[in-house]
Amino acid sequence: MSFEPDTVLFARVDTGEGLANVPLVCRRCGMCCERLSHVIYDPLNGEIIVENIEEIKEFLGIRYYEFLEEVGSKVKGINPVLVNPCPFLRNKRCEVYPVRPRSCRPFPLFGDHNIECPALRRFELTLKVLECENAERVCTYINSVKKGKPSGDFVEKYLSIADSEEIKHFFALNDW
Ligand code: SF4
Ligand code: SF4
Repeated sequence: MSFEPDTVLFARVDTGEGLANVPLVCRRCGMCCERLSHVIYDPLNGEIIVENIEEIKEFLGIRYYEFLEEVGSKVKGINPVLVNPCPFLRNKRCEVYPVRPRSCRPFPLFGDHNIECPALRRFELTLKVLECENAERVCTYINSVKKGKPSGDFVEKYLSIADSEEIKHFFALNDW
């Protein structure tokens, strides 16, 4: 069984002295998966509908039927409905993270639909302090990232405002 590589979200910043990748780091609050799921349940056919459901079934194996039963017990009526919170969310964690739908992957890089995502707020504040709010935003597979080569001054400025989680991601996305 092989699944798509994981995706990363970042801003590609032209510092004038080299490119730098500034990460957007999810705070794992689970709010987007509680309120903005892309997963539909069809009660008439007893099916979960999402773009890559076959892959999700393969990933979960027999556990898939626990999720199906749980969502089926909550949905009333006979019409297909968008299910929120997402049926694959448990204790604020995505239980199908390595095979989550493509539609989940770029969130919240291009907007948070007014849910006040703490990761997006922090990312935008960081770009503002670094004076690069209009930098290109990138969502790509981790093994396709073109690493940045920021100048020492840029790295110093970033390290002075980032927390330890962001610094870890910054190191993974840049060489110097
Ligand atoms: S709302 Fe933002 S910080 Fe919270 S889980 Fe979603 S992407 Fe991560
Ligand atoms: S599949 Fe995972 S990432 Fe997507 S909404 Fe559900 S819990 Fe969130």
